[in-house]
Amino acid sequence: MRSISEKAKEIVFGIETTLHEPFSRFDAIELVNQERVLRAFQNNGVAARHFAPSTGYGYDDIGRDTLDRVFAEALQAEDALVRSQIINGTHAIFLALSGVTEPGDTIFSVTGAPYDTLQQAVGIYGDMPHSLKKSGITFQSIPLSDDGTIDLDTAYEQVKVIRPKVIYMQRSRGYAWRRALDPRTDLKPVMEKLRSVSPDSIFVVDNCYGEFTTTVEPTALGADVIAGSLIKNPGGGLAPNGGYVAGRHELIERIAQKLTVPGIGREAGSFAGDYRAYYQGLFMAPHCVDQCLKAVALFSALFEKLGYDRMPDALDMRADITQSVRFRTGEELIAFCQTIQSVSPVDSFVVPEPWDMPGYNDPVIMAAGSFVQGSTTELSADGPVKAPYTAYMQGSLTYSHARIAAMAVYDSLTGQNAE
Ligand SMILES: *Cc1c(COP(=O)(O)O)cnc(C)c1O
Repeated sequence: MRSISEKAKEIVFGIETTLHEPFSRFDAIELVNQERVLRAFQNNGVAARHFAPSTGYGYDDIGRDTLDRVFAEALQAEDALVRSQIINGTHAIFLALSGVTEPGDTIFSVTGAPYDTLQQAVGIYGDMPHSLKKSGITFQSIPLSDDGTIDLDTAYEQVKVIRPKVIYMQRSRGYAWRRALDPRTDLKPVMEKLRSVSPDSIFVVDNCYGEFTTTVEPTALGADVIAGSLIKNPGGGLAPNGGYVAGRHELIERIAQKLTVPGIGREAGSFAGDYRAYYQGLFMAPHCVDQCLKAVALFSALFEKLGYDRMPDALDMRADITQSVRFRTGEELIAFCQTIQSVSPVDSFVVPEPWDMPGYNDPVIMAAGSFVQGSTTELSADGPVKAPYTAYMQGSLTYSHARIAAMAVYDSLTGQNAE
């Protein structure tokens, strides 16, 4: 890491004076969520014994069962499954979808194609055994409107005819130039209207990157099942791995039969590690998300100052922790990711290069100097090196780290000489 120029400090401190409103908004959200999380711990009598590992079948694993209940309450759901054996967010979402459907069912997405890593699993392309398509489940979608909201009129007309088993929504932006959907203003009215014509449809929300960015989760507003990753928001930077599904009790019980074995469900499954990091991570999550939100608001303001297109703007409402920015050239995108890597606590000496990755048509560059591999609650950035040179960034365990990163990025993009 190069030393930071005086100019960069001046610029970043100056930008921060314009961010009082969003920062106090994020703090207010943190307070509401922290209180709910705290109550969830207290109401479930969390004690040191819940952190202990289990072995073998894992019958009566109180650490596992209590963690489910604490997560459920924290996420405003009746029930939850929180497991290290759910390997990532993609797995959690796939589990939720395959757990609530049967051959012949239709899943109808009102937010376009699902996240990239789900497309083979659903069967949009490829020929993977056990994809939803191979299991006789149809996936249909309609795109978002041009303004990034759900196209409710089209959705209404189609849902009326199809009566899909599942209505699917993706809250965060994924790798698209769109905004995140706010549970209260974007998802709730859609769920209410669609439920009126298709009362039996199950609403499943990909909640990745969304948890604790607003004061309510989709489950409080009518979503039947939400799913996400523990190396994003709800793991608080401490959970070493895992994923969750949360929602209506009866559906979570069904999903548990898919998670393990029909007839065994959630009764078994031990964990020889230590549950403490999952509990402590959830406790830390509202604060961690607050730090992430401040970090991306700061970067958005910096990118505005430097004249780049960005989504969202610094003062905008947010419903996920990610920030997109469009650079003018591939070199700028690469320099940005390399700078983020160079200010990381882990692997700061590594210089990332664009690389051909499975599933991508263009070389992708990734910066991730994180304690937990691939964790995006930690400061990270990536993007495909092709026009319009969009980078997606998120995370930072502490806001101070993001300030240092913003200064370094300013120096790197403006060619400032370090003193
Ligand atoms: C991260 C993410 C996922 C799941 O990704 P994993 O890498 O499998 O955890 C799914 N949907 C969205 C919108 C995401 O941001």
